[in-house]
Formats: sequence, structure tokens, C-alpha cells
Amino acid sequence: MNVLVVGGAGYIGSHCVRQLQQAGYHPVVLDNLVFGHREAVSDDIPFYDCDLGDYDSVAQILKREKIELVMHFAAFAYVGESVTDPRKYYENNFVATLRLLEAMLDNGVKKFVFSSSCATYGETDTLPMLESLTQAPINPYGQTKLDVENCLKAFSKAYGLSFAAFRYFNAAGAAEDGSIGEDHNPETHLIPLVFDAATGRRENIKIFGTDYSTPDGTCLRDYVHVDDLSRAHIAVFEQLETPGIELFYNLGTGTPSSVREIIDAVEAVTGLKVPIVEASRRAGDPPALYADSSKAQRELGWEVKYSSVQDIIASAWAWHQSHPNGFDDN
Ligand code: UDP
Repeated sequence: MNVLVVGGAGYIGSHCVRQLQQAGYHPVVLDNLVFGHREAVSDDIPFYDCDLGDYDSVAQILKREKIELVMHFAAFAYVGESVTDPRKYYENNFVATLRLLEAMLDNGVKKFVFSSSCATYGETDTLPMLESLTQAPINPYGQTKLDVENCLKAFSKAYGLSFAAFRYFNAAGAAEDGSIGEDHNPETHLIPLVFDAATGRRENIKIFGTDYSTPDGTCLRDYVHVDDLSRAHIAVFEQLETPGIELFYNLGTGTPSSVREIIDAVEAVTGLKVPIVEASRRAGDPPALYADSSKAQRELGWEVKYSSVQDIIASAWAWHQSHPNGFDDN
């Protein structure tokens, strides 16, 4: 099967492209390289430097490459920026996605896998989180992801689109062979920033909030390995054979880690001391988010290979050591 991976040069997309190739599928990558890295995609994979909202070019690619299924990873994902510059988020995450879907439907491509987010739920006291939880995003980033989910539901009913929306928790880690990994500019994610503090590339790590109603006062998150996330995208293919099917899955390990626990785990994995500064809360951070992924386990046979956060951090550390400047070190 020929699969168009939109955002295939990005963090999660590039890991998924690897797995598609290893599993014998034919990935084709579309990425505008605003955040993606050309080096993250091997040279034997067809690559289009193109915007997902460019209807005419996408339509041509779908036809030329005889695409049967589209996976869509391309999104702006800085929560804080989505609050200060929401136009950018509605434009890229929603409007451009609508153009992509139109190009698909107009060319008879009716299978779609969408990167959604636990940010669609907003704050909750109901933990671990099931798919049936009320979705009430607290920032425009989460809202744009929810808007796409709702659009997909309507398209499924009206046009027979089959889709799966995966609501990721905190993606982390890197490919086992250390060849691809996380490289965001600017980097805002906890684990790579803690590495930088450990190695002296930054002065310290700021803990955003130590007064949350959690066991150690810092936020709880569900860190899940990027290769575990990727496997779910392929495991869902069979279900997508059913025309008009709508699927929603939470993807997380179900085990929460606090910010302090992540810092401790980084110290254990690296053997380095991490200088910390206790800072005030970051706007828009819910105290605790962790998944109940039993639906994905039951229906897709999905199991995490990386159940320990130390193992996830160790894989990220291997990548970070060989690529302290990300893909610039290639
Ligand atoms: N965090 C922190 N210091 C940082 C970056 C993140 O304390 O420099 C905390 C953040 O408040 C959240 C957790 O680490 O509780 C994970 O944040 P990240 O940005 O990695 O992912 P998010 O949960 O926002 O998707």
C-alpha cells in the first residue's frame, strides 16, 4: 500500500515512516520543512517539499503516487504560541488540513490517520483518561485538534471517510539505532531540556510549578515512546478497510511521571547532576494528564514496548549524545 505521510520529516512522522518501510509499505513523504528535517527521511523514499494546504500539488501527488491512505502529522504544536498567535494555528492546523482532506476526497482517497492530542481534553480530575471523557480544550492548539476531529466525523458520515484519530500523550524517546530523534527549534519539551541542563548547554532546568495538588507538587504527564506511538498507526490499517469507520484512541503508557521524577530519571540514566530552579507555573498546564489506553490495547492489540520512563529516557539520551545539535550533527 502507498501511504502519504504528511509531516513525515518531523519527529513522530519520521519514526512512523521508518516503521512503514520496515513493515513493507511504501511511504511517500510530504513536508514543507518548516519544522521537519530532510535528513530525517532516507533518500530512497519519495519526498515532496510541499505545503499540505496546497490543494493542486497535493492532488497531483495523490494521483502520481497512487496513494491509498494518508497519515497527517504536520501541525504547529507550541501551546503558548497558540494563545498569542491563534491565527497561525487555525490556518495551519485546521484550514490547511481541510484543504488536504478535500484533495483526498476529490481523488478518491478515503483512509486517514490523524495525529490528535490529549490537549483536546483540557483539564480533568478523572484519571486515567478514557476516550469518552468530555473534550474541553483550554488553548487554541487543543481546539484546532478537536475541530479537525469533529470535521472528520462529519466527513465520515457524509462522504464515507474512514479515519483513526490518535490522541497522543507526551511523545518522547528516539529510534533504537540512534539515527533519528527529537529536534525542535525552539525546544520546549521537558526531556531534551533536562539533557541540556545536565550537559551544561543550558544553565539549569526550570520546574514550572511546585505547588500542584500532585504527590510531589509538580505536574504529572504520561511519557510514551515515539516508536510505540508509531506502531499504533500501522496496527489500525485493518480497521480502516471498513468504509466510514470512525476511530478514536488514547495513546499513553498509563503510568504518570512528575517533572521531578523525570529529572531524577535523567540523572540516573546519564550519571550527571541536573541543576534545577523552582519557577512559577506555566500558563495552560493542567496538573495531571495520563491515559487509559485499554481501548487501543483491546482493539488494535497495541502494547507499549517501552513501559519504563528510564528506558524511554535512555533511548532519547543515546540520540542526544550523538546529536547534541540535532540533525545539524549529521
Ligand atoms: N516543564 C518544566 N520545565 C520546562 C519544560 C516543561 O517544568 O522547561 C514541565 C511542564 O510544565 C509540563 C511537563 O514538564 O508539566 C511536560 O512539558 P512539555 O512541554 O514537555 O510537554 P506538554 O505536557 O506541555 O505537552
